[in-house]
Amino acid sequence: MQDLFQAQRSFFNAGKTRPISFRIQKLKELKALLQENETVLYEEIYKDFKKSEFETYTNELVLLYHEIKIAINNLKSWAQRKSVSTGLVNLPGKSYIISEPLGVSLVIGAWNYPYQLSLAPLVPAIAAGNTIILKPSELPKHTSAIMAKLINNHFDPGFLKVVEGGVPETTELLKLDFDKIFFTGSPKVGTIVYEAAAKNLTPVTLELGGKSPTFISADCDLKLTVKRLVWAKFLNAGQTCIAPDYVMVDEKIHDDFVEKCIAEINKVSYSIENGNYVQIINKDNVDRLQKMIDYEKVVYGGTVEREERFIEPTLMTGCSFTDTVMQEEIFGPILPILKYSSLSEAIEKVIQLPKPLSCYVFTKNKSVRNEILSKVSFGGGAVNDAVMHISNSELPFGGVGQSGMGNYHGEAGFKAFSHYKSILQKTNWFELPLKYPPYTKSKLKWIKRLFSLQ
Ligand code: NAD
Repeated sequence: MQDLFQAQRSFFNAGKTRPISFRIQKLKELKALLQENETVLYEEIYKDFKKSEFETYTNELVLLYHEIKIAINNLKSWAQRKSVSTGLVNLPGKSYIISEPLGVSLVIGAWNYPYQLSLAPLVPAIAAGNTIILKPSELPKHTSAIMAKLINNHFDPGFLKVVEGGVPETTELLKLDFDKIFFTGSPKVGTIVYEAAAKNLTPVTLELGGKSPTFISADCDLKLTVKRLVWAKFLNAGQTCIAPDYVMVDEKIHDDFVEKCIAEINKVSYSIENGNYVQIINKDNVDRLQKMIDYEKVVYGGTVEREERFIEPTLMTGCSFTDTVMQEEIFGPILPILKYSSLSEAIEKVIQLPKPLSCYVFTKNKSVRNEILSKVSFGGGAVNDAVMHISNSELPFGGVGQSGMGNYHGEAGFKAFSHYKSILQKTNWFELPLKYPPYTKSKLKWIKRLFSLQ
């Protein structure tokens, strides 16, 4: 790993990643590599958790293609020197900001959308001119292996290399003096990564998780709300960092809401065989999730088939903040439903918890929307929808507090992998004598006058 790191350092220091043309070329190569190998990418992810071609394309590959396209189209303007005003004190001269790549970067991926979460950070890393070591999650072993095979056979390891492995390999990587670490995963491991990065003062982006709430107001369009919510929750069997974790529903529409959710789940008919559902990633997670199910509160689902790694979409009602299911991020197909009579009280409860990655509000009422958006701190979210905000590259994607720091997608990603170097460039034909000793009263008077003009 030390040799690989040194090779990347040399590649970077040689300035090979600096030309914009090089970066655009590498982005195009990455896109072509994925497009040419789509069939094998579908086959390998299916082996890991039976994810269908439809879901792999729509939840993983299309986001990557879109990010690459946005980066290629906008790279010149993102990387362009930006002029800013200079101010009287420094005249005559000019001021500008130059973006530069941070250097050798480490990207650590999570397992739940294995292609998207490993490869999407590569796009801004390449666009900004970094070299990259990518460590995908070891849990979906086939997707990890295929990414390593395709990338390592194609790219110069000095520029981009996939290192496969779990905790021991990541621990070794984290000892290296990277210029940037981009981590996607749990808040628990995020803390380990942050600590390791601190030893080298390495800047980090931490894309973490948390319990993302959904508020359902009595005035919402209930039919559409349920359709969008059920889709967002059970997509990828709930193994989505921005999935609605739990629902807070106005008691006035609670029963109607639950009834409609059941009808919607039945209508969709979630099954692995028909390709609209996936397996739980491993048996440990099946066991973890099963412990969260309180069968006395289950109004739908609850079936667990451990060998098949299948958990039925499950609804639980009468839930409260003290329930087991409310103690940690669910990250699976279980939806606890909590009733509220007062929106303000519901918000008060939610803001006692760590800041979540997302929050959703379903309402037609502006004041309900504003109250939630202004009082609840969270990474990003949606009004009258859930999860879909991730598909807009104009919206920086990331958490706050326990759900992460920094963000990416679109230009935000480019910024995450760049340093902005500020330059004041002076001319030599004039020099104001005011700043030099002797420090007289009349000079001070002039300085005060000058600053008041700025
Ligand atoms: P995880 O934290 O267990 O693993 C993430 C990565 O860290 C993996 O590559 C793993 O190999 C590595 N890792 C695990 N333990 C480590 C250790 N002790 N030292 C060093 N590295 C270690 O997370 P996960 O189970 O892959 O993903 C689930 C979590 O990730 C959830 O909390 C979810 O919300 C979050 N997540 C966040 C986003 C986001 O974009 N914000 C996306 C997906 C998942």
